[in-house]
Amino acid sequence: MLIQNIRYMAVDEDGKWKVQSGDMLIQDNVIRNIGNFSFDESVEKLDGKGMLAMPGLINGHQHTPMSLLRCYSDDVPLMTWLNEKMLPLEMRMNDEDRYWGALLSMAEMIKSGTTAYADMYIGMDMVAEAALTSGIRAVIGRGLIAMDDNVEGRLREASDVVDRWHGKGNGRLTTMIAPHSPYMCPPEFLKAAVNLSEAKQVPLHIHLAETKDEERMILEKYKVRPIEYLHQAGVFERPVLLAHGVHFNEEDYNVLKSMRGGIIHNPVSNAKLGCGISDVKKLSERGIKVGLGTDGPASASSLDLFFEMKAASWFQKLKYEDASVLSAHDVLTMATQNGADILGIGEETGSLTIGKKADVILMDMNKLHLTPGHETANLLVYAATGQDVDTVIIDGKVVMRGRELKTIDEEKVMANAKERTKQLLERL
Ligand SMILES: [Zn+2]
Repeated sequence: MLIQNIRYMAVDEDGKWKVQSGDMLIQDNVIRNIGNFSFDESVEKLDGKGMLAMPGLINGHQHTPMSLLRCYSDDVPLMTWLNEKMLPLEMRMNDEDRYWGALLSMAEMIKSGTTAYADMYIGMDMVAEAALTSGIRAVIGRGLIAMDDNVEGRLREASDVVDRWHGKGNGRLTTMIAPHSPYMCPPEFLKAAVNLSEAKQVPLHIHLAETKDEERMILEKYKVRPIEYLHQAGVFERPVLLAHGVHFNEEDYNVLKSMRGGIIHNPVSNAKLGCGISDVKKLSERGIKVGLGTDGPASASSLDLFFEMKAASWFQKLKYEDASVLSAHDVLTMATQNGADILGIGEETGSLTIGKKADVILMDMNKLHLTPGHETANLLVYAATGQDVDTVIIDGKVVMRGRELKTIDEEKVMANAKERTKQLLERL
């Protein structure tokens, strides 16, 4: 496929995003050429006039089936929300529920420009099936919670997810080992998860330092801070995706400095649950990589990463009372290359680079709210929304064109999601 006459976003040596123009050649699933080149062979042509190409966005932390619980419970603290509202329903979800919930989330993500994401949940076979159907790039891990005696069974399931799905969908699916959090995983269980990550040679994915409550609980129970708790279990000997990272002290930052992987910042979820604001400025200054995520639809409510980009920048500016903190350029990098690196797929995706997989979104810039169009990076972060995404290409395949999804029947997904939710609530 040849995308002709396109303007596209590239990053210069200083890390600044700039607009370039030319053509983009996608062959098989890879970006073969970009810029000004001649190409005579007859290939499918796509007119990119009026559009702006950018790398697909990376949602670094998600629980896709939870879309069935969107706005079921809001305006309560995290532990109440999780234990009293979410868990009773999540325990009653079946495979069908998870499949349609995941597909609903994926439809929403693709429509708002997300091409790759990381998922931690239960019943991951259904999530994997939905990912194969939707065409999205997914990094999945069975969420590990030690709530009863079936610890061995859970670890086996996590191991099976890696064996069954890693590399599937032409390499679109990869896997992680996903112990839920310090407060849901006792020491031996967490160590077993770390060992499994080592044995399977896949990264870890865990919630960390999300609330002050978590800090209190871990300090009380184990006499160490959450990060030290993870450190003692060997988590930092493996590449790791840490979701949230809101509450750190100076010693914590020292532990984080040597980590492989990085932190996925979820500003909207953290704000809605009253958790606090992650110190992205300090993390970045310490050389710790920070990506962006929405967290699950039941806490974030929206999976539009354009909204998440705004929140990330706004909250940081408010926290420091300084408008220069976390620029639009920095936020764009967080939502693309940084996220891809933290998900362990940074060599394949995250930028419009020759040789990388063709994960590309085309923005329709011919909009009132994007006119006249001064600084493009600023426009994308501060003015654009997911509704401005016109075309989405993942792994070289067009999965949305003219805002019409090619892989998912939207009406069918919504009808099924409503019906599944109705039946789920009846089982409560
Ligand atoms: Zn989460």
